[in-house]
Amino acid sequence: MIKPRTTFVLYIIVLILVYLFLPWQGIFFIITSLLFLSHLVYCSANICSQAYIKTLCKAIISEKKIAITFDDGPDSEITPKVLEILDQYNAKATFFCVGKHIENNKDLLKLIDKKGHLIGNHTWSHDRWFDIFSSKKMKIEIEKTSDVITAIINRKLNLFRPPYGVTNPNLKRAIKDLNFRTIGWSLRSFDTVKSTEKTLKRLKNKLSPGDIILFHDNREHIVEILKAFLEYSNDEGYEIIPVDQLLNIKAYETYM
Ligand SMILES: [Zn+2]
Repeated sequence: MIKPRTTFVLYIIVLILVYLFLPWQGIFFIITSLLFLSHLVYCSANICSQAYIKTLCKAIISEKKIAITFDDGPDSEITPKVLEILDQYNAKATFFCVGKHIENNKDLLKLIDKKGHLIGNHTWSHDRWFDIFSSKKMKIEIEKTSDVITAIINRKLNLFRPPYGVTNPNLKRAIKDLNFRTIGWSLRSFDTVKSTEKTLKRLKNKLSPGDIILFHDNREHIVEILKAFLEYSNDEGYEIIPVDQLLNIKAYETYM
């Protein structure tokens, strides 16, 4: 992956060459600018681009081990159902929680931890404009969420997942001093937009060893999807483990 800074330098060099040597400068200027902008959008929108932040997206292994992750909870209705299904299949998952949803679900957060699942930081507000927040505002959100979670489970978080999977220079600055491991995914279920059938078909077609799968524990149909997916992965001989084991990293900075 070419870093945005490198492409910016290339962009300037190409523009200078275009103006010095080529006719129809206007067309070349538009084409070069579009290519550069597309590259920037790709780098920001693709959580595994590694353009701004080192993100862990998949384990390079051949054993049939995978990790499943849930974003945007905890949800007082859906998360308990998800936990129940995970128990049935003896699967341990990772929950990237939104701070504002924790306030009314403190016991639920405790339960997630007690059952041996991992908890990660998914910002306080998960605001739709989070990507354009200043780095200071981003840092406040992330720290506030970590503080609330730490107060409940007595562990200092080490795992972070950006809302919408978007990374940019502001986020890089925000998490620079916080020592987080940024966790992406290698298999997106699209459970928020696709039907149960289409989601399952996609998962079955693409599943491979070392995958980190993205689900959401705030949608009613995740219950059906999860049950069918765990049944399938079980039949195929996959073991589901938390991301810290899959990636050989620490989920919590220090045990308090
Ligand atoms: Zn999210």
